[in-house]
Amino acid sequence: MKVAVFSTKAYDRQFLEAANNPKQHDLVFFEPRLNRDTAILAAGFPAVCAFVHDQVDASTLEILASHGTHLIALRCAGFNNVDLKTAAALGITVVRVPAYSPYGVAEHAVGLILSLNRKIHRAYNRVREGNFSLDKLLGFNLNGRTVGIIGTGKIGLILGQIMKGFGCHILAYDVFRNQELEAIGGKYVELPELFANSDIISLHCPLTEDTYHLINEQAIAHMKPGIMIINTSRGALIDTEAVIAGLKSGQIGYLGVDVYEQESELFFEDLSDEIIQDDVFQYLTTFPNVLITGHQAFFTEEALRNISEATISNITDIEQGRPCQNEIRAQLPAENKVLVN
Ligand code: NAD
Repeated sequence: MKVAVFSTKAYDRQFLEAANNPKQHDLVFFEPRLNRDTAILAAGFPAVCAFVHDQVDASTLEILASHGTHLIALRCAGFNNVDLKTAAALGITVVRVPAYSPYGVAEHAVGLILSLNRKIHRAYNRVREGNFSLDKLLGFNLNGRTVGIIGTGKIGLILGQIMKGFGCHILAYDVFRNQELEAIGGKYVELPELFANSDIISLHCPLTEDTYHLINEQAIAHMKPGIMIINTSRGALIDTEAVIAGLKSGQIGYLGVDVYEQESELFFEDLSDEIIQDDVFQYLTTFPNVLITGHQAFFTEEALRNISEATISNITDIEQGRPCQNEIRAQLPAENKVLVN
């Protein structure tokens, strides 16, 4: 099938071409994001491959459909950026990659925990400048500390397993219990108990109406003073203004985030020559105890290989008229009512 691949970076091309070898589909790579202005680039392409920040809204879909597109192959898990009802009404099939590398994300969360605790980001710069002072680099042992994990699906479970290896106690909160986590000693508690007793809180639930701003002023007030908060899930799980207030008061001792509420304006682009207009984001970067990465937790060779192989296989299924298990339909079961994933 002829596929217009939007938001292409060099790594997308590399891994998609490898997964498409021997050539099954005619992949044409476009750097711009997909939106109503760029949709015309896909004229004559029966399939479009899109990523997390592409705007696959009603007007984009109408342009695509009017020029012959009948398949949107998302190379990501989330589908909040796709108007599924309009896609269905226009006869456009939407497929996605529901899971690719939970280890990569969990390991990145551990990286943030270790770096923040032992101030590796600060030590790196000091040593390069010939400053070998240990002042203000004091950390704590993870052994014996309590990690609160919110969302214990694929990624949360792996984080629990890794932190158990460090000798941590695991508290957990989820709408469903994960028996594998319980089997290694993870203890399910209600959120207030998790907030009150954790030294580190790591977020691994999807962003839904229920989890929007889960970490807000009230939640932060219930946490241990000096809490470490880690978010590799979705930016809007955290009320950024409340977190900034918590950092200023010292109630929050450490913040490690791979995601940010307004990240679509920033992440995945090289803006090093530009003036960043987001004052809240810029302010966050000034705290010595805040570590931000630009939505790279998933970014491992294994994940890119899995994403690309699943995307090619999804396109082949649809082309050959086979049922595709990764098809997303407009009528979703209640538990999948995900706003952003
Ligand atoms: P998953 O579906 O396996 O697990 C999510 C868990 O959250 C489930 O156990 C679910 O029951 C739970 N949950 C749902 N609603 C909840 C609520 N209201 N309160 C508490 N728990 C709730 O998903 P996963 O593969 O582990 O991914 C977790 C999240 O990680 C994703 O939703 C996504 O936002 C994020 N993610 C980030 C990256 C990245 O690169 N930073 C990559 C992939 C996924």
